[in-house]
Amino acid sequence: MKNFKKIAGLALAAALAVGTLTSCKAGSGSKLIMATNATFPPYEYVDGKTMKGIDIDIANALAKKMGKKLEIEDVEFDSIIAGVSQGKYDFGMAGMTVTPDRKKNVDFTDSYANAVQSVIVAEDSPIKSVDDISSKNKIGVQQGTTGDIYASDSPKNGGYGEDAVVKYKSGPDAVEALKQGKVDCVIIDNEPAKAYVKANKGLKILDSAYANEKYAICVKKGNDSLRKDLNKALKELKDDGTIDSIVSKYIKE
Ligand code: GLN
Repeated sequence: MKNFKKIAGLALAAALAVGTLTSCKAGSGSKLIMATNATFPPYEYVDGKTMKGIDIDIANALAKKMGKKLEIEDVEFDSIIAGVSQGKYDFGMAGMTVTPDRKKNVDFTDSYANAVQSVIVAEDSPIKSVDDISSKNKIGVQQGTTGDIYASDSPKNGGYGEDAVVKYKSGPDAVEALKQGKVDCVIIDNEPAKAYVKANKGLKILDSAYANEKYAICVKKGNDSLRKDLNKALKELKDDGTIDSIVSKYIKE
């Protein structure tokens, strides 16, 4: 009992310490705090105990160019924009698509990648193309992502309606549900889709893409100095071939 109390006390102290650390505000001079969601290979994922991926490497290169120390926090995708607008994180980088709605809440840097929303189905699925998907299907998505936003929209606007959509916390959770037959397809970004299909037997990606989009880094609305600094560093990394070489390290076509 005594020991338990001691351990519980230590755990509490540790939790408080972490709490103080993580509540430390962004925007503190020599350090940049980035928020990501590391369930999104090859852009960000956890390998053993370290975060890896295209965004992680680009962010490190950006911080180096800007002469800042980078700290990365792994949070739910859905809370990145809120945290950035509250000033908890300096920027969000998570294979994040630029959308008009998000632009109301955060500002975006120049884009650093083109992306595609794809559809994953079981190999023997009756869904052969995007046109076969209807409101009668159960469609799995990662909550708060563009796949979710498009699919949850009304059929009039090209979506399938909220009732057809099942929202999961992460891409891997949605893919697991597909494997278990709980949903008929998963709409998700093409590169993670490729990684998930490679890691799971019996799944495939439809040939027809669902939507084309662009990734960029989000900063707090009005933080023009950080946005401009990031854009300048991004341009240098594009021009000197760093971005291309990072991408080709992770994506081998
Ligand atoms: N590109 C998608 C979006 O921005 C998904 C991003 C993600 O899941 N990390 O909504």
